[in-house]
Amino acid sequence: DFDVLVVGGGPAGAAASIYAARKGLNTGIVAERFGGQVADTVGIENFISVQYTEGPKLVNSLEAHVREYNVDIMNNQRAVALRKDGKVQLELQNGAVLNSKTVILSPGARWREMNVPGEQEYRGKGVAYCPHCDGPLFKDKKVAVIGGGNSGIEAAIDLAGIVEHVTVLEFAAELRADAVLVKKAKSMGNITIITEAQSTEVTGDGSRVTGINYTDRKTGEAHHVALAGIFVQIGLVPNTEWLRGAVELSPRGEIIVDERGQTSLPGVFAAGDATTAPYKQIIIAMGSGANAALGAFDYMIRQ
Ligand code: FAD
Repeated sequence: DFDVLVVGGGPAGAAASIYAARKGLNTGIVAERFGGQVADTVGIENFISVQYTEGPKLVNSLEAHVREYNVDIMNNQRAVALRKDGKVQLELQNGAVLNSKTVILSPGARWREMNVPGEQEYRGKGVAYCPHCDGPLFKDKKVAVIGGGNSGIEAAIDLAGIVEHVTVLEFAAELRADAVLVKKAKSMGNITIITEAQSTEVTGDGSRVTGINYTDRKTGEAHHVALAGIFVQIGLVPNTEWLRGAVELSPRGEIIVDERGQTSLPGVFAAGDATTAPYKQIIIAMGSGANAALGAFDYMIRQ
């Protein structure tokens, strides 16, 4: 049996397991794929104190750091259910059931994709999902933001301060973002908003994005916009479907946590992109993982 069982091997889970192991707690990590979203990232320039690194390199350092401690790493294992009956039970897809005094949930999230030709091919070569991460790479260039919800319009306002021009493409007839954000975006000279636009293809020259094709849903006409970058902002989906009914989730499926990372189920904590924490970044996920591990430690010494 474990004292602390961490679900997820991204930055939040790695930080949680190191903090737990350093308290002398018997710690395990269950991860479908160690490294999480970081494994899919090309350049990282905002992991403070490291001027530049790349996803796979950071994943190797995360794993090496976790392996410095006596943490049982169960990689390529998917958790499918969580229950509590005295201890917390975590059921894996392979049928095994693990028991632990506390669990830290850090299953992360995934960006919703457009699912159009060219998107996968040019991922990291102009197709981006994180304006905080990749915005500065497009300084003085033209970009598009796909999606006119809050995250899309926030991204457009953010990028407009860095890039030459932003085209927002929204599928629906109306933007879904808050009126105050829409007003701000419309007041900026270098943002064009196009509604009823269905993105159909990311175009490229074989090595980089050159633009986007879209269809005007009113007229059926096809259009091309020449661009250096495309920020896809049509939703970040937390990997929490399997937790429905076990812990309290927000309407968007994010795990609701308090300031110690405690969920609605005593002894079960959560950290990282899967939680209601508003900003989803590596450094923030790591901080919240450390916070949840200390929360779990605090909980255990009171039992
Ligand atoms: P994740 O990294 O998503 O890790 C989740 C972990 O949980 C994985 O190991 C996964 O396999 C596992 N898991 C999920 N479900 C289960 C399950 N049921 N059972 C077992 N394991 C499970 N942030 C920055 O700060 N700077 C950047 O430059 C940057 N660039 C990015 C570029 C891209 C392309 C992407 C996608 C993200 C980028 N981010 C960046 C965001 C950053 O990667 C995330 O904020 C961070 O990885 C979140 O960490 P996490 O540990 O919460 O979740």
